[in-house]
Amino acid sequence: MQGMPLEAIVQRINPDTDILGISVMFSQEWPVVNQLITLIRKAHPHLIIIAGGEHITALPEFSLEDCPALDYCGLGEGEGLVLDFVQAVRSNADIRQVAGLCYRDKSAFVRTEPRKRIREVDELPWPAWDRLPIETYLSISYGMGVNQGRNMPLLATRGCPYKCTFCSNPVMYDQRYFMRSPEDIIAEIAHYVEKYNATFIEFYDLTAIIRKDWLVKFCNLYIEKKLKVAWSLPSGTRSEALDGEALALLHKTNCHYLVYAPESGSPATLKEIKKEVKLNKLVDSVKSAIRLGIYTRCNLIIGFPKETSRQIRETLRFQARLAWLGVDDAPIYMFSPYPGSALFEYLRGTQKIGELDDQYFDGLLAQMDLGVTRTYCENVPGKTLRRYRIAGMCMFYGLSYLLRPWRIVRSLRNILVKDATDTVFEQRISEMLKRLTRVAPRKQASSYQPAE
Ligand code: SF4
Repeated sequence: MQGMPLEAIVQRINPDTDILGISVMFSQEWPVVNQLITLIRKAHPHLIIIAGGEHITALPEFSLEDCPALDYCGLGEGEGLVLDFVQAVRSNADIRQVAGLCYRDKSAFVRTEPRKRIREVDELPWPAWDRLPIETYLSISYGMGVNQGRNMPLLATRGCPYKCTFCSNPVMYDQRYFMRSPEDIIAEIAHYVEKYNATFIEFYDLTAIIRKDWLVKFCNLYIEKKLKVAWSLPSGTRSEALDGEALALLHKTNCHYLVYAPESGSPATLKEIKKEVKLNKLVDSVKSAIRLGIYTRCNLIIGFPKETSRQIRETLRFQARLAWLGVDDAPIYMFSPYPGSALFEYLRGTQKIGELDDQYFDGLLAQMDLGVTRTYCENVPGKTLRRYRIAGMCMFYGLSYLLRPWRIVRSLRNILVKDATDTVFEQRISEMLKRLTRVAPRKQASSYQPAE
């Protein structure tokens, strides 16, 4: 956990507050948020507490049951929902008229009608970063991917039209995908550069690039407005629209770091998890990006429930091919069954996931840990998966630095001299060194006074 201690957060709540909204993005956060809500309830018995996010949307009844201090769950997108909710509470209107809610009514759970997706995404206001201690985050290059100075997050789209079985997107966003207009995004970027002196924009989208015409328009506007700020796609994007022409535009607009999400090198696994990706096309796109000098990463996962050793070895061979091609990062993660995903439902049905306790929720994050042996795979034991993972990572980064020894100099210079990073591998090493040499960030953050 990063940031202020829970008690300090509770103390910051203005006693005049009547409604409090809490975001619970992913399920690994739940045990801590549960504790926080319980502490808030003790200190503010009359406060109305509503929570939302991917975890809450996937497990609303469970969340209300597991955390009696929580009053309401907001399902799906929160902006319009919170507005309707606050208006209903303040005017004593019937709460059942607010779409997208789940709450307790005596001993039963009530779900109001599902909320419609927000189509007019351009009408949503930009985040009010000036209401937060944003400088704290900017000054430490807080971000999702690599460190290129003052990293600023941004969302260009909402949702994803695909239906991968390990992803909670279909429950949260129902597969409809809405893009903001390139004009609005460009204006937001220009605003961040001017107001916050942002030097790096990170697109946090589920999948930012689907349509090539949209991307071309975005890049042409970027060039027309003479924006110089670098940007990246750190969360993994589709590759279908990223052909040579599109990548050349990305390069021209200073796209620094591009993350692809093949997930597996095994066609059988890809079919099983419904990841609609053509590996050869993805590799062609990766090769073009590398030729242009864009730093690239490919995310891989092993340990899906029905995966076999043979399929996992295919992923490892694919990873070796990526190292050979010059990809900068290709981490392998252990499969985590996220609530809301089809595989979570499957594993619940087969009793592989039993009680949803803290051990299960903490395990979602622990699956990132290289030492983890917990597995949901029916065919390969956890210890073998761990060996595959460690072997794959050592092979990838070993080969990568061996084939391109100048990268060793670049990494050392970035980490030790420039305090910037070009790859996530460098970023992790840099973070580890900083953790070893500086005061715990929790103490630093808690001394910060947020804006009113
Ligand atoms: S994993 Fe990516 S492509 Fe698949 S459904 Fe989720 S967001 Fe979409």
